[in-house]
Amino acid sequence: MTDQLEDLDTYRERVRTYMEENLPRRDHDRPWNPMEDDDDRASMNRDLQRRLFDGGFAGVCYPAEYGGQGLPIYYQRVINDVSEDFDMPLLFSTPTMSITGPTVLEFGTEEQRRRYIPAFLRGDELWVQFMSEPSGGSDMAGALTRAERDGDVFVLNGSKIWSTYAYRSDLALCLARTNWDVPKHSGLTMFIVPIHHPGITVNQIKMVDGTEEFCEEFFDDAIIPAENVVGAVDDGWTVATRLLFHERAAVGGSSPYTQGRYRNTGDAGRRRITSIARREGKADDPITRQLIGQTEVLNVVQRALIDRVRTGIESGHFPGPAGSLVRLFGGMAEVERVTIGLELAGRSALVWDEPAAGTEGVDYVRRQASCLGGGSTEMARNLISERILGMPREHAADRGVAFREVKRNPSR
Ligand SMILES: Cc1cc2nc3c(=O)[nH]c(=O)nc-3n(C[C@H](O)[C@H](O)[C@H](O)COP(=O)(O)OP(=O)(O)OC[C@H]3O[C@@H](n4cnc5c(N)ncnc54)[C@H](O)[C@@H]3O)c2cc1C
Repeated sequence: MTDQLEDLDTYRERVRTYMEENLPRRDHDRPWNPMEDDDDRASMNRDLQRRLFDGGFAGVCYPAEYGGQGLPIYYQRVINDVSEDFDMPLLFSTPTMSITGPTVLEFGTEEQRRRYIPAFLRGDELWVQFMSEPSGGSDMAGALTRAERDGDVFVLNGSKIWSTYAYRSDLALCLARTNWDVPKHSGLTMFIVPIHHPGITVNQIKMVDGTEEFCEEFFDDAIIPAENVVGAVDDGWTVATRLLFHERAAVGGSSPYTQGRYRNTGDAGRRRITSIARREGKADDPITRQLIGQTEVLNVVQRALIDRVRTGIESGHFPGPAGSLVRLFGGMAEVERVTIGLELAGRSALVWDEPAAGTEGVDYVRRQASCLGGGSTEMARNLISERILGMPREHAADRGVAFREVKRNPSR
């Protein structure tokens, strides 16, 4: 089988040639600034995704029968390496390609797979996750959003929050409670929800850094067809557990479905940190050089950890929750990189709404996002201690109790 696959060097050349002819060059000195979010970003990403698809470079690890290429992860990695020099459809990478997509692939019906997977690979439909709720995202199984069955449909009520780019996305995977008489993990169902749909209101949330990419959604008797259930009714936690697995892999950097690199672990990250030092006239300063060296150590260790954990999980030597190791390291490393960027930028990081300013100030203000998005680093620590090291599970007052009986704060 392996000898029928294209040689990786030839593949690399083919990818580079295609990208040179079809994708815009990335401006390394001007990374995407979240303050510059504009209406074109989503349509630009849809267009870039379509270009990758047309060239046969979208969904490299997705099966060919659903529009993918059916290739091993090494081919996706070649694309990720080469793509550092080009604009990539990163909005499609996470969560569409790397979190919601694999979940539909694993738990969707054959009809759902054929309907939804080719559509996002082509860049037609952007997905988001409706998981976190105002009552807290860490306790995902404590979802209060409810879906009540009414013949062939479910009626959705409640609210979700922190959904990234929901206002410009098309579909969501949404976890909702369908049974209140069983313990919390046993009464959930996963749904495919069309976002711009009667009964669903999407509001953008303005953040401290000025961005408005986060959304909150309110469901008021939104009608969702029963055919949109992913997995079995009341067994949504099984689906959610795999979704979280894919999320940890995507956020940590070990997912085979992530396209392009937006953790700063590669050449682009190195160029970026050195360009801040040059811009500030500090390239010859010994302390600056140490800080640059420090980021390089983070990058090398992170890449090695990703490889080790991914191969460990694939070979069965590590349990699935080992993805928490890369998730934890990824979050902490990103905070450290951003802090170093701020230190190198010095006073210029205090200004971030001038066209000529760098993004170090904004990056610093939002640095904690890397320890929250994709599940918090504290929850990753819990998983590592309980599910990898076998330490006792933390106390949970709601374990084994019918969800209806669980004491909770009044919902909003
Ligand atoms: C960049 C970014 C993108 C995101 N995108 C999405 C998205 O698209 N869709 C979506 O549904 N959500 C999204 N989120 C939300 C994210 O999943 C939640 O922020 C995260 O799960 C934490 O939930 P919370 O913010 O409600 O904090 P809470 O759950 O209220 O927790 C507050 C603090 O308490 C800690 N904590 C809570 N429980 C425990 C415990 N048992 N042990 C130890 N510490 C604990 C947490 O680590 C955290 O520091 C995103 C968040 C970010 C930052």
